Amino acid sequence: MPLENSIILDLPNFKILKVTGTPKLTFHVEHEEIQKCPYCTNEGLRKKESFTRCIRHTLYGQRVSWLELKTHKYQCRRCKRYFNTRLPGVKPRARATEACKLEYTKLHQNGWTQRSLSKSYKLGSATIERWYQSYYQLKNREYDNALCPRIVGIDEHFFTRKDGYATTIANLSSHKVFDVVLGRSELSLRPVLNKLKGKDRVKVVVMDLSETYRSIVRKQFSNAMIVADRFHVIRLVNQQFIKTWAEIDEIGRKHRGLLSLMRRHPDRMREDQRENLNQYLEKVPGLKSLYLFWQDLLRLLRMKRLTKRECRKILTEYLWIIDELKKIPFKHLQILGNTLERWKEEIARMFRFSKTNGITEGLHNKMEMISRRAFGFRNFENYRLRVRVLCS
Ligand SMILES: [Zn+2]
Repeated sequence: MPLENSIILDLPNFKILKVTGTPKLTFHVEHEEIQKCPYCTNEGLRKKESFTRCIRHTLYGQRVSWLELKTHKYQCRRCKRYFNTRLPGVKPRARATEACKLEYTKLHQNGWTQRSLSKSYKLGSATIERWYQSYYQLKNREYDNALCPRIVGIDEHFFTRKDGYATTIANLSSHKVFDVVLGRSELSLRPVLNKLKGKDRVKVVVMDLSETYRSIVRKQFSNAMIVADRFHVIRLVNQQFIKTWAEIDEIGRKHRGLLSLMRRHPDRMREDQRENLNQYLEKVPGLKSLYLFWQDLLRLLRMKRLTKRECRKILTEYLWIIDELKKIPFKHLQILGNTLERWKEEIARMFRFSKTNGITEGLHNKMEMISRRAFGFRNFENYRLRVRVLCS
């Protein structure tokens, strides 16, 4: 019954002759496929000497299983070359089946240390490491020919103190990492981006307010629309307003309770909190109008999924705010006004879209976990390998 045999072993065309349990679980099998020459696919072969092969297979229960079978050395009658019996699911000369390698790799990936695997199943830890690496390299190669996603998020994250920052290119439609590149300057990104395939497919790129990224994207993704990332824009606005607040009332700014209240969304405030904040705002001259102006700007920046007509209305309001910011005699607000003006097109597009780099930030968390689990990476290529396999 070859069908049942292949269900038990999960390998095609093997026939189980006998199973023995001592000293180890062994399937004595026979391979039923007709051998062909691997070099010229000729079926005319001369059988030379035979030998017994013992191959490690997947776990059964908690027991390691082994396949034992008789194999041959062959010579092709046409091309005269020699080869040994080829088995499906087993690489030539391998001492474990591919299914077995995958099983141990998954166990290791899910948290079993090499040491405990090695102890439990009597296997060298270097072997597990080798299987693990080759699995990752295989997986990684699958991504090499991938086409660029339509909606891309670009953001930086910290890699190591020695190598500094790395840039994440995320697929915002599928919430996955497309690639990671060491560095965040144009010089370090260019060679990688030059090699990407399907760059004209990219329609939208979401990014923080970084001039370098903007110029790279304009050059590399000619069809893409650049959209500012809401999270970063709002963070920048908050930073500049808090700095201005410190200029008006330095002592109040250092009060942690007040800081928390100032930053809080007005809808998420309790009644007593709102009262406290109001009392404080009345006390310091000029602060209340600053606060209201700040909240107005934030309310505007939180708008999303607007229609074209709604956008136009918002835009006039937005341009008015920029003008006002530049007129206010505070250094940080003038800086903010200038930045918002330089990025006004990208921010205006933000009102139309809902995608943000919040997804990319989430992926950064996952990437940090990968890094921590490995006790940090020294080699960026190894890090990239893991990130691409585990976050793609
Ligand atoms: Zn041949």
